[in-house]
Amino acid sequence: CIASSVGSAKVPAVSWEDIGGLEDSKRILQESLAACLKGGKRTKRSGIILFGPPGCGKTLLAKAVATQYKIAFLSVKGPELLNKYVGQSEENLRNVFERAREASPCVIFFDELDSIAPNRGRHGDSGGVMDRIVSQLLSELDDLQSQEESQVFIMGATNRADLLDQALLSPGRFDKIINISPGQDVDSKKKILQAVSRSVQLAGDVDMEEVATSCPPVMSGAELYSIVSNATMAAIREQRFLEDFVTSLDSTTLDLRGNGCRFV
Ligand code: ATP
Repeated sequence: CIASSVGSAKVPAVSWEDIGGLEDSKRILQESLAACLKGGKRTKRSGIILFGPPGCGKTLLAKAVATQYKIAFLSVKGPELLNKYVGQSEENLRNVFERAREASPCVIFFDELDSIAPNRGRHGDSGGVMDRIVSQLLSELDDLQSQEESQVFIMGATNRADLLDQALLSPGRFDKIINISPGQDVDSKKKILQAVSRSVQLAGDVDMEEVATSCPPVMSGAELYSIVSNATMAAIREQRFLEDFVTSLDSTTLDLRGNGCRFV
């Protein structure tokens, strides 16, 4: 049963301001979903694949677009669907689509899409288990296209688009791949640092341009986030910026004290 491993479908709370840089990807996603929502019954609702290295913001982008249009978000990690019992993986996949239809309008976000949709006919697929899952996925996607009333939108994320079964990329299924690249120039790193420190009260002399300049050439958003969170924890540990944290964290302050962090 997938009930425990797949989260429930609810509207996320990620704003576009929480995401630094990636302007082109934001625009393409917004336009694609707007076209699906406004286009009426006959508009094709083909899926979108977000392609990029780990921690570059694929999940955040998908959540932000669902937040903007107030659409429930059902996140499914590909490997969670796989089950050793015959037929159970396909059943799990069917359940995901069923659940999304019940929660409609809903985005299904398949993280690690390559794990459930690898090229068919590969060596090592004993009993053709993976082939059956891919076929099931293709059939679910085609069903969605034929259901004019459907308000279920499909997104997938992968860092190995080369492994995907080609049939998945045919028109009406996933026919848009958005390439998400990590912050490589100072400006995009600076924008991500600013976004991830939005809820942190910074000292007046913090210069994000300088921080971004001193970062290694390529850093993912997740790595930039850890710079800010490590700095935040160090500030708390060393009891620096005491007043700023006490005023901005407010109720959180109590929790932090409970966890052994003392401000006083
Ligand atoms: P994976 O492939 O490992 O699933 P992902 O590309 O889906 O990774 P996310 O889960 O979206 O990555 O990002 C991980 C974390 O990194 C986010 O929760 C956020 O803290 C930070 N992050 C990544 N990219 C950005 C960004 N562009 N702006 C702000 N924060 C970011």
